[in-house]
Amino acid sequence: MTANLADDIADRLQKIEHKIAQSMTQLDQQAQHRPVRLVAVTKTFSAEIVRAAYAAGIRDFAENKVQEGIAKRLALSDLTGITWHFIGAVQSNKSRKVLENFDWIHSVDSLKLAKRLNQQAQELKRCPTCCLQVKLALDPTKSGFEPDELLAALPELSQLTDLKIAGLMAIAPYGLAASQTQTVFERGRDLAQQVSQVAQQQGWQSVHMNELSMGMSGDFEEAIAAGATLVRIGSGLFGQRS
Ligand SMILES: *Cc1c(COP(=O)(O)O)cnc(C)c1O
Repeated sequence: MTANLADDIADRLQKIEHKIAQSMTQLDQQAQHRPVRLVAVTKTFSAEIVRAAYAAGIRDFAENKVQEGIAKRLALSDLTGITWHFIGAVQSNKSRKVLENFDWIHSVDSLKLAKRLNQQAQELKRCPTCCLQVKLALDPTKSGFEPDELLAALPELSQLTDLKIAGLMAIAPYGLAASQTQTVFERGRDLAQQVSQVAQQQGWQSVHMNELSMGMSGDFEEAIAAGATLVRIGSGLFGQRS
């Protein structure tokens, strides 16, 4: 690892953390807000870059491909205290490996996948923290629950007691104005509140809505303004992916 690489990442990290802090000051002063967790998205970047980011103090890393993530985990098994996040589409033949190798799954995008993960989590006695991925705007390229579909699936989701459902994840469509992006993320916040109310009314212990995984390098400030608790930052820390 070159010292320069770690320094570059540390510089970028400091700037992003500053922006995160700024965005949080805009939030309603009345409300109690938890610190926003920065998850570094290292897909396509080498294990050495992850090591440099670790040296800069980052402990949350996200990957979107199972094999790539496992390879980096193995290459970095000497580093302690890392939380590994999975943020990509979970193919059904890879779901077991995702459960075995990641601490969080942000991309639970269908009832079918949730059921499969629940079954396998029970078998493996391993229960990562899960976010339900939701589609908050018309965007044919994104997967996830439509809001209505999510509400309709809640009774079944509430039965999946081997899954730790912690909140929602969303990706905003590309190319919107900042204010429109923020409106999209606010829809995510409102949906989480709605789900949380239903869960409370029904007495479901297994569905929690404390986490909102929203915001990437280009829109994390809008996401934080809408209440994001985790932001997923790749290019802003590591540069453009080739
Ligand atoms: C790649 C990716 C990110 C990070 O995107 P950047 O724009 O590089 O910050 C965040 N979330 C998901 C789901 C991704 O696939």
